[in-house]
Amino acid sequence: MKSFNLKYCPACCGELDLSDYKVFVCRSCGFHFYQNPKPTVLAIVRDEKDRVLFTRRVRDPKKGFLDLLGGFVDPGESAEEALCRELKEEAGVNISPEDLLYMGSFKSRYFYQVDLDILGLGFLVRPRFKMEDFVFDKTEISDPKFLSVYDVDVDQISFPDVRSIFKFYKNNLKYYSRLN
Ligand SMILES: [Zn+2]
Repeated sequence: MKSFNLKYCPACCGELDLSDYKVFVCRSCGFHFYQNPKPTVLAIVRDEKDRVLFTRRVRDPKKGFLDLLGGFVDPGESAEEALCRELKEEAGVNISPEDLLYMGSFKSRYFYQVDLDILGLGFLVRPRFKMEDFVFDKTEISDPKFLSVYDVDVDQISFPDVRSIFKFYKNNLKYYSRLN
């Protein structure tokens, strides 16, 4: 849990003491740089057969790996607002927060320019969709497909939080399948 890529204080450019992974303290000005995880949102979007909408990542990290719709929460947004915005931007669908059912939070960590500690907030999108309901943003979304949970190779899934929410959905499929 150590960051190797941050060295300098964002307030004064002094050297940071990196010995505590939760908070880096500036040796010059004493600035406390808290290392909280970044919240992201993840969507389980389903069709009538409980298959899950997966896409392929168009860019690094993990270009070409399976991914779910979602993304980072913007400043000032709730998790629900962030997911509704992402679904509109990436897939052209209008969802309201009442359509979302919170499933749980899922941890992840990856390196992209800096080490990122991620807390993925996972939601089931309750309405069921057909492929023709979507208007995908081709610059962001590649190869969208509904996949049966039994056909997904988890080693092909991009990140730990995406793998975890997928497994959680699969393990609780009987419960989620009844929800409309
Ligand atoms: Zn400083």
